[in-house]
Amino acid sequence: MPQRARTTPQSNLPGDLIRRSASTGKPGGQGGSSGGGGGAGGGGGGGGGGKKPPANMQPSRGIFGVLMMVLLAVFLFVMLSSMVSSKPTSLDQFKQWWADGELSNVVVSDDAVRADRKPGPDSAKPTLVTIPINNSSREVLVKEIVELTKGKVTFKPTPGWIGFLYWFGPFFLLLLIFWFVSRGLRNASVGGGMLGNFGKSRHRMMNKEMTGITFADVAGIDEAKDEVGEIIEFLKNPKKFTKLGGRIPRGVLLIGEPGCGKTLLAKAIAGEADVPFFSISGSDFVEMFVGVGASRVRDLFKQAKESSPCIIFLDEIDAVGRRRGGGFTTGGHDEREQTLNAILVEMDGFATGDGVIVIAATNRPDVLDPALIRPGRFDRQITVPLPDLKGRLEILRVHAKKVKLGPKVDLERIARQTPMFSGADLAAIINEAAIAATMHNKDFIEQDDLEEARDKIKFGRAKKSRVREKEENKLVAYHEAGHAVLQCILTDADPLHKVTIIPRGAAGGATFSLPEKDRMGYGLKWLIATLRVTCGGRIAEQRAMNDISSGAAADIAQVTRIARTMIEEWGMSERLGFIRYAGSDTREVFIAEKSYSDETARLIDEEVRRIVDAAYRDAEKILNENWDKVEAVAEALLRYETLSADEVHKIMRGERLDKPTVGELLALEAKRKPAGNDVPASEPKPDLPPGTLPSPA
Ligand code: ADP
Ligand code: ZN
Repeated sequence: MPQRARTTPQSNLPGDLIRRSASTGKPGGQGGSSGGGGGAGGGGGGGGGGKKPPANMQPSRGIFGVLMMVLLAVFLFVMLSSMVSSKPTSLDQFKQWWADGELSNVVVSDDAVRADRKPGPDSAKPTLVTIPINNSSREVLVKEIVELTKGKVTFKPTPGWIGFLYWFGPFFLLLLIFWFVSRGLRNASVGGGMLGNFGKSRHRMMNKEMTGITFADVAGIDEAKDEVGEIIEFLKNPKKFTKLGGRIPRGVLLIGEPGCGKTLLAKAIAGEADVPFFSISGSDFVEMFVGVGASRVRDLFKQAKESSPCIIFLDEIDAVGRRRGGGFTTGGHDEREQTLNAILVEMDGFATGDGVIVIAATNRPDVLDPALIRPGRFDRQITVPLPDLKGRLEILRVHAKKVKLGPKVDLERIARQTPMFSGADLAAIINEAAIAATMHNKDFIEQDDLEEARDKIKFGRAKKSRVREKEENKLVAYHEAGHAVLQCILTDADPLHKVTIIPRGAAGGATFSLPEKDRMGYGLKWLIATLRVTCGGRIAEQRAMNDISSGAAADIAQVTRIARTMIEEWGMSERLGFIRYAGSDTREVFIAEKSYSDETARLIDEEVRRIVDAAYRDAEKILNENWDKVEAVAEALLRYETLSADEVHKIMRGERLDKPTVGELLALEAKRKPAGNDVPASEPKPDLPPGTLPSPA
């Protein structure tokens, strides 16, 4: 099963390999990572739609923050400066000091009487003396002071705002602190900035100029493209449609695996119709504070209506649109329901004439709340499937336009090697290959780079630097040779593509087949051949090493899965007949329902065992009869590490390969780089364990 690899943004492409994309005039124009929502309607929301943090903050947001900071600073200053005034003195004490001639510069303000006191016995520096004034004491106090000083007083009312700050400041401060904390908490979960607008929708608005995406950028999903044709027509001219009274769907649900191009398709619709594109992800809605998600929905729809015709794209709708009530939900439940309700209300609330089309994407249509797919809501459903062979080739071509390919590159071959890969995986292959080619200082991408990138995306990076024990190496070589020889001999199996003992991901080595076409289903003959090929690793291991290893775990899992499915779902056991035994496949149910007796359960287990045992025995027989070939292939693997299908066939015919062995390559490498090289320069032994060297191609 291919591992889902995340697409590396195309801006990662190494500079000299990027061919400028003609339509947008900038590299990586398709990636949608061109961030930024300059000029979002209403100038409100922050720029952080999607899962990524905002690419560029709106200036208003920054200024707002700075203003808050300044206010806070001023307030603190005022508070502190009024606190500098020493501790309050009593009127009697004040009179005493005045009589002693220690005081001068008496000032009466709204809140206190202040005077400077000369350095005295209890303090070396001049101090400020204060008698606080409150409303009831004011008149008496002021009168006494005036009498005492014989009128040598200055009256200085405190400026209004300082008084205001003085009284309301603490309250303000509390509010501010609360506000900061709540923002911090909210953003901790969504990854936005510290300052922003509460509850405003965090969508990005992109129009054609910004996305630059048209149908030319979307390949391999022609049916889906056809189906959205009328939506584009509608967006181009909403009036035309309403005149005839036709009902255009308001909501379209795009269904498909991650990376199949749902977002890309939605953007292309916007691009083709030349209308703005609002997008928000379902996981953005699920916020910490109740009511925020719902208010975001309302805000998003409001802004969209203001700039209609346009498209609203709701990614990961299942994050909010799961069936309400029931199921296993923990926390955030009400919030989700409120958000979902808000979406439903908003969708019911606009008329076809508004010219807003809501496109939602999910890979789990089965868990969606039925209310979402009711007529008038997301009643149009379009599947965006994993691309087939032709589709993969087209997608590869689209992405290859942005890089420089060598003359001998065969993209069709890559397309054949990538069943079950998504569009995003394919885009990643091209990107990875470009990076690899740059690292090797090549002028263009070669087939090797593409194949290496494919393997890397499927199985993880090759661990060439891991030096294995000689024994372990031998074990892996025999294991893979067992698979490879069977793959070549069994005509019902897929043809061999290549075999390698370079470890990759969790696997110690790998044997690759090259299916001629994508399979929609599996024939019994092919299944049996595949079972035999899969058993071959362990069998060869055992005969060669007189021991067995855990390296066959993945093979065992695969064999078991295939055999079980053959019986439970595909009716391929005579004893169990044309009956389905597998539980129903509603993924929400965790306990598989079993609708057969214990007797049948035992029978199923027996049959699984029988099928696997038969495959194992058959494989064992074939390998025993061809043991010389297994040995030859294993020897060659130890020398060359990687063998192509042609090379394996040659070896099996008893021919010799005329390419340098790993040992010879090592020696060559050492000669080329004489200094500062830790690869051993001597002993070009033929069966040297793989060290740090490029695999012979
Ligand atoms: P999804 O929304 O289905 O998860 P995206 O639309 O985000 O997938 O696809 C991610 C990337 O994969 C795209 O930006 C594009 O580079 C590439 N890609 C996916 N499908 C296609 C396709 N059909 N044609 C061309 N590129 C594709
Ligand atoms: Zn294996």
